[in-house]
Amino acid sequence: MEKIIVVGSGFSGAILARKIAEELGRQVLVVEKRDHIGGNMYDEVDEHGILVQKYGPHFLNTNNYAVIKFLKQYAELFPFAVQLLSFIDGRYVRLPFNFETVQQLIGPEKAEGLLAKLRAAFAGRDRVPILELVDNGDKDIREYGELLFEKAYRTYVSKQWGLQPEEIDKYVLDRVPMAMGYDGRYLNKDFQYLPVHGFTKLFENLLDHPNITVELNTDALEHLKLEDGKAWYDGESVECLIYTGPIDELFGGKYGPLPYRSLDIRYTYEDKPSILPTQIVSYPQAPGYTRSTEYRKIMYDDSGARGSVVATEYPLAYDPHAEVGNTPYYPVVTEASTAAYQKYLGEARKYDNLFLCGRLAEFKYYNMDICIEHALAYFENVKAYLMKNKEETI
Ligand SMILES: Cc1cc2nc3c(=O)[nH]c(=O)nc-3n(C[C@H](O)[C@H](O)[C@H](O)COP(=O)(O)OP(=O)(O)OC[C@H]3O[C@@H](n4cnc5c(N)ncnc54)[C@H](O)[C@@H]3O)c2cc1C
Repeated sequence: MEKIIVVGSGFSGAILARKIAEELGRQVLVVEKRDHIGGNMYDEVDEHGILVQKYGPHFLNTNNYAVIKFLKQYAELFPFAVQLLSFIDGRYVRLPFNFETVQQLIGPEKAEGLLAKLRAAFAGRDRVPILELVDNGDKDIREYGELLFEKAYRTYVSKQWGLQPEEIDKYVLDRVPMAMGYDGRYLNKDFQYLPVHGFTKLFENLLDHPNITVELNTDALEHLKLEDGKAWYDGESVECLIYTGPIDELFGGKYGPLPYRSLDIRYTYEDKPSILPTQIVSYPQAPGYTRSTEYRKIMYDDSGARGSVVATEYPLAYDPHAEVGNTPYYPVVTEASTAAYQKYLGEARKYDNLFLCGRLAEFKYYNMDICIEHALAYFENVKAYLMKNKEETI
């Protein structure tokens, strides 16, 4: 039988490998460029006994309980709703911006009238994008929206994305809306969890199947070839190749490199149990950096931890050849990059046995829950293709 290859061991690759191995009873080779599994979800216990997420903090949050049920097969999860503060004009205010923040930023006396207006204008709405406040017909609501936009949003977005808010996809801008009430949870999803023993353990269990072989430190691009309408691996024809890496790199960047943001994450250790006033602090006005995470505060059990460590994120453009910033984190979705992506997609469609899945291969900002739902649904395409092949062979 021809081989089935999965390139990448993040959620997209690991889920597809598991489903193929388990449901179809087929052998799968998972090829991973890094020296570890899990993609950007990878975490490890550092020298101070603290579970650190190497590529930035990740929290499971979804309204779809099926996602949680799926993950519970591979890891023990505990409920966890992350708490954030934003450091604005020299003091900490609640993030998401909510009714408490209105009082903090403009004082309770002025807030009274504005809160009544917000309640009336957005009755029945849980969260409202800041841009809706900015566009509102009422002068007070509009001015408050503009205050948030200028003090927190514009500077944060331009550091995070290296672009002005006007240049970036609206979906990205709507990701941190204002809470219409006193809800202090950063995310307003129904189900919010973290794995008790970390994400890496979850991935180890997901990939632990007799039909799965994982090869680390292997750049698939050095082994695969696209020729004669098919993907080949090590000179052999393969039944199916699922690619979850950056789509532009698959085609040697022939339509130009797609832009991604990367992060330079810098760590500071202090010999005390707590450093920040909460788990994550956002710094919209600080030079160069966007947010800091104190990992000890998000551990299920920190009894083995000594001191505490804070990871601060400095966003920068992705450059595969640079010493710092060589990991693609966030696809920068603009009109120009979408047009280039479409060209790569057109190219990919020429190869029957090539499947593209995931954040980098599909050039989309997937949250984990959407990424998991998508990989599970995408498996049905792969399954249909493999079943059809089997029938034709018989
Ligand atoms: C900083 C940050 C914070 C986030 N926080 C959250 C959060 O709190 N909640 C949430 O729901 N989502 C969050 N996300 C989104 C989440 O990380 C993604 O949904 C998820 O990681 C996507 O998985 P993936 O498998 O598609 O991609 P990836 O995890 O990027 O996996 C792709 C894999 O392919 C490998 N690869 C690439 N090219 C090759 C090659 N040539 N050969 C071999 N292997 C290759 C890579 O090394 C990588 O392991 C966050 C993302 C970032 C960047």
